[in-house]
Amino acid sequence: MPVVKVHARQIYDSRGNPTVEVDVVTETGLHRAIVPSGASTGQHEACELRDGDKSKWGGKGVLKAVGNVNDTIGPKLIESKIDPADQSAVDKFLIDLDGTDNKTNLGANAILGVSLAVAKAGAAQKGVPLYVHVSDLAGTKKPYVLPVPFMNVLNGGSHAGGRLAFQEFMIVPDQAPNFTEALRWGAEVYQKLKGLAKKKYGQSAGNVGDEGGVAPDIQTAEEALDLIMEAIDSAGYKGRMNIAMDVAASEFYKEDEKKYDLDFKNPDSDKSKWITYEELADMYKQLSEKFPIVSIEDPFGEDDWEAWSYFFKTTDFQLVGDDLTVTNPKRIKKAIELKACNALLLKVNQIGTLTESIQAAKDSFAAGWGVMVSHRSGETEDVTIADIVVGLRAGEIKCGAPARSERLAKLNQILRIEEELGSQAIYAGSDFRKAISM
Ligand code: PGA
Ligand code: ZN
Repeated sequence: MPVVKVHARQIYDSRGNPTVEVDVVTETGLHRAIVPSGASTGQHEACELRDGDKSKWGGKGVLKAVGNVNDTIGPKLIESKIDPADQSAVDKFLIDLDGTDNKTNLGANAILGVSLAVAKAGAAQKGVPLYVHVSDLAGTKKPYVLPVPFMNVLNGGSHAGGRLAFQEFMIVPDQAPNFTEALRWGAEVYQKLKGLAKKKYGQSAGNVGDEGGVAPDIQTAEEALDLIMEAIDSAGYKGRMNIAMDVAASEFYKEDEKKYDLDFKNPDSDKSKWITYEELADMYKQLSEKFPIVSIEDPFGEDDWEAWSYFFKTTDFQLVGDDLTVTNPKRIKKAIELKACNALLLKVNQIGTLTESIQAAKDSFAAGWGVMVSHRSGETEDVTIADIVVGLRAGEIKCGAPARSERLAKLNQILRIEEELGSQAIYAGSDFRKAISM
């Protein structure tokens, strides 16, 4: 059942920016994927090809990437007659056709759209749900493991206005008995948090950031965490809900001074207040003594390896590489060797194909790391990552707040998968870092 038609078009993501959608047609019908996009992107990510014509969409158009699918990738893929169920052959074909290290020729956004749409065609050809196909491709054992949803309920950094430097504050219902309950706990805490934020900081504090979390104008992480703890208490989950943060520290690392600027959104930021990585590490220590923090992502800059290794030695919670590792096998290898972190944030568009994403997860599992599958801050109605997290047995997902449909689309898909699998699936729960071997 080879691919008979490939068609890409430009549509819009959750921030109103252009993105690539790809339709792949086989005998089983039309299979569609949409590509997400980051704001706090890592410097080492695969190339997101944008038109750069400032007169349209501020330079963010993706018509070149769309053209690359319609004029080059599509015709050649059809001509190749590769079986869409053979994902690694398809992805190898795409990588070779591009011919560059970072997919700068065709664009990782063009390539990923095709890769994911083909994966859906492959699943349909086998007559199985996508998560089953991904599980086959990755060779993961059964039963299926449903992930702990890391819900980003308070947004800061480059995803929100306000002064808060740290980007994401997540609640982690790892002690819930199953995914459905975990989502209920999260949704209840979120609603309490919204009410509390408005009460304490005024009506406008109920406005949300790019990932659906509230975005009150507060300055410190401690204040944000105090507010979240109060919401957890008032929702009735005191002592049963953990916390995670994505600091996204590359956004406020000042490379020349080798310092971190916690007031980076202020153009008149006082240089004398910028801090060293040791001071930032101390801040994390103090926060983790006061709050039930189980995971910190990107605590330091993407090339500040020394800081990562320093912090790694003294912590036992999950240390997640995102901008550091960019879902790239070479960067993951380096992070393993330098003992920089102990978990991978897996973002399919950082690397550009499903096969390479699966490989990134397998390399991470082999090193004893956790793997958290992730959305981007610019998202769409596409729910592929929900199937990927289940298929990979990764045990943890972050896809924003339990609010805004582009975020809930993924969580809702996992609800459906949990319902469908019934007793054939278990919830990762507090084993989320070791879900692969549960
Ligand atoms: P991004 O943010 O999609 O804007 O990169 C998500 C993250 O940093 O994890
Ligand atoms: Zn991140």
